[in-house]
Amino acid sequence: MPDSEAPISRQARWQRKHKALGLCIQCSRKVFRSWRCRKHYELYAVKQRLRYVPKRGRYGDVTDKELRAELKRLTSAAKRKSRA
Ligand SMILES: [Zn+2]
Repeated sequence: MPDSEAPISRQARWQRKHKALGLCIQCSRKVFRSWRCRKHYELYAVKQRLRYVPKRGRYGDVTDKELRAELKRLTSAAKRKSRA
């Protein structure tokens, strides 16, 4: 079965055509990266970044280990202070 007759949606066919022509799959401009123009690539990157939600082991951008080390540093500093 030729690609043009494949049972895919109109949108999917349009995107495949644009991929093959080296154009953005969202707006027909020249590809910048990952089948998207610069504008759509940036939007896509932001969207993916927001999509990523760590399930555990992290507090904001700080790892669990870093958090514990910071806690240890603060508590030991407080102990030293109270002793002096
Ligand atoms: Zn685009």
